[in-house]
Amino acid sequence: MTKLIHFSELSPLAIQNKWFQVYQLPYNVFAIFEPYHFQEVISFLICGNEKALLLDTGMGIGNIKSVIEQLVSLPLIVVNSHSHFDHTGDNWRFEAVHLLNLPESVFLLEKGYKLPAGDENLSLNAYRYPEDLWFDYTKLQVKPSKIIPVSAGHIFHLGNRSLRVIATPGHSDDSIMLADDENKILFTGDTVYPAPLYAHLSQSNLETYMNTIKRIAAEFSDYTLMCSHNNPIWEGKALFEVENAFLYVYEQKKANPEIKQYQFSDFSIIA
Ligand SMILES: [Zn+2]
Repeated sequence: MTKLIHFSELSPLAIQNKWFQVYQLPYNVFAIFEPYHFQEVISFLICGNEKALLLDTGMGIGNIKSVIEQLVSLPLIVVNSHSHFDHTGDNWRFEAVHLLNLPESVFLLEKGYKLPAGDENLSLNAYRYPEDLWFDYTKLQVKPSKIIPVSAGHIFHLGNRSLRVIATPGHSDDSIMLADDENKILFTGDTVYPAPLYAHLSQSNLETYMNTIKRIAAEFSDYTLMCSHNNPIWEGKALFEVENAFLYVYEQKKANPEIKQYQFSDFSIIA
């Protein structure tokens, strides 16, 4: 098990791309990081000896497919951790993408969607790019893509490793994690990471989120967490801190339902 690792402790690989930074992590995993937008989203390329799996396709600003092609030449399985725009933006570049089998979410991604005007993600303040932006940052959208629905418990086989789908509703109904049980790695998506956890979105449900965290903490506290925002690696026992934090926030919200940010040691909860 590994403690919290920040990108600042790692060196990016030399790749041809002006938007992403790519880092090699342990266990034949690559983190594909988007440091120039405040969401700091991370997609993961998980390599087996027969196939590779891309977990999420990023914001759709860089061309993630061209990055993947520089890293592996194996057949690729593409999976979304959930349907939010910062994880699905380059879905359209791939033949098909797997998503949890919720009909509304499958429909949403097959049809595509735009962020509403005025969304904080569309403001120039959301960006930290060192030069002028080359795209219209006010018009981020998720273009239509072909979706393959998958159920909880589905196993993706990559040859010498496999990944199990765990449904983890709370941040959104369609959130999943992927468990690599042999190597004891849990890819947590947006449900757990060492930064502000979003439990306040219209698709979020605090009680469901809390119950998911309880279930995940009970099963995966001895795993290494690979997380989808800000910093790539966290220790599994942090799940107990996250669980306690959700219990606390859930109680606080009964007395004060106003949305606010609750700060804890390595993370916070917005609820
Ligand atoms: Zn999300």
